[in-house]
Amino acid sequence: MSDIQLKEITLEAILELIDQRDPGQTAFKQSVYEVMETIIPFIRENKKYENIGLIERLIEPERVIMFRVPWEDRDGNHRVNRGFRVQFNSALGPYKGGLRFHPSVNLSIIKFLAFEQIFKNSLTGLNLGAGKGGSDFDPKGKTDTEVMRFCQSFISELYRHISSEKDIPAGDIGVGEKEIGFIYGQYKRLTSRFTGVITGKGVDYGGSAIRPQATGFGLLYFVEEMLNHHGHSMDKKTVIISGSGNVAQYACEKAIEKGTKVIAMSDSNGFIHDKDGINKNKLDYIKELKRERHNRIEKYAEKFGCDFEEGKPWKLKCDIALPCATQNELTESDAESLIENGVSCVAEGANMPCTDAAIKLLQKSRVLYAPGKASNAGGVAVSGMEMSQNARRLSWTYEEVDKKLIEVMKSIHEKCIQYGSNGEDLNYMKGANIAGFIKVADAMLAQGHV
Ligand code: NDP
Repeated sequence: MSDIQLKEITLEAILELIDQRDPGQTAFKQSVYEVMETIIPFIRENKKYENIGLIERLIEPERVIMFRVPWEDRDGNHRVNRGFRVQFNSALGPYKGGLRFHPSVNLSIIKFLAFEQIFKNSLTGLNLGAGKGGSDFDPKGKTDTEVMRFCQSFISELYRHISSEKDIPAGDIGVGEKEIGFIYGQYKRLTSRFTGVITGKGVDYGGSAIRPQATGFGLLYFVEEMLNHHGHSMDKKTVIISGSGNVAQYACEKAIEKGTKVIAMSDSNGFIHDKDGINKNKLDYIKELKRERHNRIEKYAEKFGCDFEEGKPWKLKCDIALPCATQNELTESDAESLIENGVSCVAEGANMPCTDAAIKLLQKSRVLYAPGKASNAGGVAVSGMEMSQNARRLSWTYEEVDKKLIEVMKSIHEKCIQYGSNGEDLNYMKGANIAGFIKVADAMLAQGHV
């Protein structure tokens, strides 16, 4: 198959096209399915979006960059990883989206993340296009010097494809402030330019206040909006959170601040169940522990004398569940357990953590469900604010950024209501997809067949 053209705009035709062009890209196909399922009925009612190959262009990245990343480990062995940057859509602004370092990374995963990012970035209301990148490098168990060597080699190729006007990466799984520092240092060395080419930097050298906290805090601001809108509050609710990395830690911090009781967190080995609740001091211990990526959450159970179990935390009884680890970590049977135990809200901190069957079941059971492209958009929103501060060579205070973050999350929630309401029914996925789509699709139509 040489060209990309849909005979008719149906879900089946779009998925068939992906199967033919990109066989085996299951994560990418899943992300397209989740968006198109709600967009296609909207397009039927708004014929202008059937024009000039809009859908065909929307599902095809503008550019895919794949490259070799050679580096030398501590024993002098020569290692080679694969690097990726998918520059998916620049209709709204320069490409923006994180870098993921994890052994599971492949082109399909990076394409799904970049595709999700199109709608998420559009929802923030900022002028941000969408991209994503990363490598199948596993930072776990590596020394700081090994991580630095890898980061330097990675950016020594990527630097020629990015700039503060063109493509601005950030962190994601396996890429935190340490890795961003190494990447930025080498970028600066190669270009002699002190620009805001990457976000998530340390505050001392151009980072924004609240960027580390932004995704987790934003998630809780969104959950609060959802509950308030439905006449409930956060107070004394029981919360479970998967993951114990950046997003999970700050989701936990804000959840505690909002008066909830967080009883579980996890990593890829298992979860801790602390019936007394994780308090500020215990969370500080988790943050310290997870500074080293190889440290396991099980140590929390040993230190504070609570339960640790292998597997995922979704069998525990809770009011609010926040998947903050990785894609497809909450399946239909997990959703069944949560519903049986009386969950009332599931909001995604991670990208695409709930499978499609889990989402359908939650929605059918009238559980409030928030898709990540809406509820975890706080991270990229504050990254956008970091870009603005860098461009103007100034720094906003913690309070200023926090206030702007709250406003962004409220406005995303309003957009979900505007486009996701149907009488009594409120479908956040539909609302987020349609609101995100309209802005980017209108910009694409205005800019012609490019
Ligand atoms: P981190 O690397 O800081 O933490 C990831 C956490 O998820 C760790 O606890 C890790 O456990 C766990 N995890 C990773 N892979 C798996 C797996 N296959 N199974 C079970 N647990 C797993 O990443 P972030 O917190 O930054 O990212 C978490 C999620 O949030 C991702 O989906 C990311 O795309 C999304 N996100 C992140 C944003 C950000 O600003 N950082 C913004 C928006 C979304 P272990 O240590 O054992 O690997």
